[in-house]
Amino acid sequence: MAGTLNQEAKKRFLDFLETKQLRMTGQRMAIIDTVFSTNEHFTADQLIEWSRERDHSVSRATVYRTLPLLTESGLVREMDFGKEYKFYDPNYADHPHHNHIICKDCEKIVEFESARIAELENEIVHKLGFSVSSQQLQITGSCDALKRLGACKHKH
Ligand SMILES: [Zn+2]
Ligand SMILES: [Zn+2]
Repeated sequence: MAGTLNQEAKKRFLDFLETKQLRMTGQRMAIIDTVFSTNEHFTADQLIEWSRERDHSVSRATVYRTLPLLTESGLVREMDFGKEYKFYDPNYADHPHHNHIICKDCEKIVEFESARIAELENEIVHKLGFSVSSQQLQITGSCDALKRLGACKHKH
């Protein structure tokens, strides 16, 4: 989860917290720094683990209280792939129009953008008399390792 800190998104989130008059704590800052320094999709459990690498005192409760604020801010998107846990995507601030493909076994997530898909979705929506407020496509499949070797490295 190495990567450069997304300062712009982080600043926008801190501004958002300020409008809610929420107290900034060391724990919460460790979580925020973690979220805005990765472009990987993560689960709540992964966020707890990564945040604890920055600050051992990060509690599960604080992560679970911070996640809804992150999604409410619009900077992180919650994604449901039909599992018993959700995934969180920190890339919407920079790329609001991307889609996902996920491996059904190792849960590797790959992003893609397609002007043709967006066009097709717009065409369908228009035909049905709607207007688009958000659109995303999720594909579940077998990653390259699963396809070739019948197994992939498990993430969890
Ligand atoms: Zn994504
Ligand atoms: Zn896989």
